[in-house]
Amino acid sequence: MRRHCNVKIVATLGPSSNDYDMIRALHEAGANVFRLNMSHGDHSEIKHRHSIIRQVEKDLNSPIAILADLQGPKLRVGVFANGEEELVEGATFRLDLDDAEGDATRVKLPHKEIFDALEPGAHLLVNDGKIKLRVKDCGATFADCEVIVGGTISNRKGVNVPDVVLPLAALSEKDRKDLEFVCELGVDWLALSFVQRPADVQDARALAKGRAAILSKIEKPAAVKNFDDILKVSDGIMVARGDLGVELPVQNVPPIQKQLIRKSRAAAKPVIVATQMLESMIDSPMPTRAEVSDVATAIYEGADAIMLSAESAAGSYPIEAVTTMSNVANEVEADPTYLDIIAASRKSEGKTVADGIVSAAREIAETTDIKAICCFTQSGTTALLVSRERPRVPIIALTNNIGTARRLCLSWGTNCVVTGHVDRFKDAVLAAVRATLTQELATEKDMIVVTAGVPFNTPGSTNILRVAPCAERLIYSADQD
Ligand code: ATP
Ligand code: MG
Ligand code: MG
Repeated sequence: MRRHCNVKIVATLGPSSNDYDMIRALHEAGANVFRLNMSHGDHSEIKHRHSIIRQVEKDLNSPIAILADLQGPKLRVGVFANGEEELVEGATFRLDLDDAEGDATRVKLPHKEIFDALEPGAHLLVNDGKIKLRVKDCGATFADCEVIVGGTISNRKGVNVPDVVLPLAALSEKDRKDLEFVCELGVDWLALSFVQRPADVQDARALAKGRAAILSKIEKPAAVKNFDDILKVSDGIMVARGDLGVELPVQNVPPIQKQLIRKSRAAAKPVIVATQMLESMIDSPMPTRAEVSDVATAIYEGADAIMLSAESAAGSYPIEAVTTMSNVANEVEADPTYLDIIAASRKSEGKTVADGIVSAAREIAETTDIKAICCFTQSGTTALLVSRERPRVPIIALTNNIGTARRLCLSWGTNCVVTGHVDRFKDAVLAAVRATLTQELATEKDMIVVTAGVPFNTPGSTNILRVAPCAERLIYSADQD
């Protein structure tokens, strides 16, 4: 595979990316993380996509992270007989509790509590705010709405009611079932939608029981307000701009995005920028200039990962969308301005031995002709610290834990390699050299930096830094261990 950019690419899977060839092609084009959206598709489809991803991972010997996105308390319309309908400005459209498939005049909105809370004059926003309805008349089982802004409405599109506070739990019954299902299936990350409080994250963590890392989607004003506390209890963050831009004025999203990226990086936790990054590529092989600029901005701001939603799940050009992201990332990452910005926003507090070692590793690598930083990591913590440094040389994260390797696929710059059991430092250096040579990041004439914790197999004990030659015979003769 060709060498990829440092920023990671998350591709949502759906009807357009359902088979082995497509998923493999997306991975080869640069998608390191696949997102399974639990809002769309039943358990058998999720299981099918999961098994294809694991097959691709095995065939290419390249760890892949799977992120299962739990729907959360999101309101969604039901399905339409024709799959979609056109809502015209000025028309009347009814939302109700009737099981029948929708048409141009009505559709089911399967949330009883919303009808209890709605009042005439309230606004409903559909599909990340693209369609706007105003309630004219409503009862316990229906709402007749005037179409204020029209557009295409299709199966299971999301609905926001910004004017009304709804009494909804963070994890619905469906979410609990989905969580158990995907944890048993074996996903690496769980994304929680509509997190509002740290307790929402802790509830999910208690259910996941260590089977998956927890990523909080920031898409509610309350989550922005409580962000510092939510970040403390989360393993990763998603700037979920779709709902965020509906729940808050859309112009508030860019400054929030910047702030969340900066804080997440300081905490050494991966942060994804999501939604509408290349929206026009759903139907076009070419992005707009504004979209290219949006992708570039997220990278300049220091995001770990950028995400495709409908572009890869339901669009006509999934591979082109991944390639576009990858091309933009390669340009940004080669720009001296990017290197300056990333260095200026580096926060090396250097409080622990591991902090000191990773920052020394970066400095040595950047000031001498060293080709890669190889770090041994069990829980992934050391690799997260190296990733936070955003070094100018490639990072190789070596671990004997496949789960760690997969989870790290979301973090900036990490090339993850699963090693066999290592318990002597000399063997660790050899494994690092082999991984660097195999990935063609160095030749036998080059040097690398290796960090590890001795004794081995004690998580969180990084205490060694070695500059090693890549020629194996030199390692044997130079090693004193
Ligand atoms: P979320 O709020 O979780 O982002 P979403 O409805 O916006 O939910 P995305 O995963 O962002 O969903 O994808 C955007 C659109 O792509 C969806 O609204 C849907 O039309 C389509 N889509 C995504 N995944 C699927 C799927 N598995 N099956 C059918 N359509 C899908
Ligand atoms: Mg959302
Ligand atoms: Mg979305």
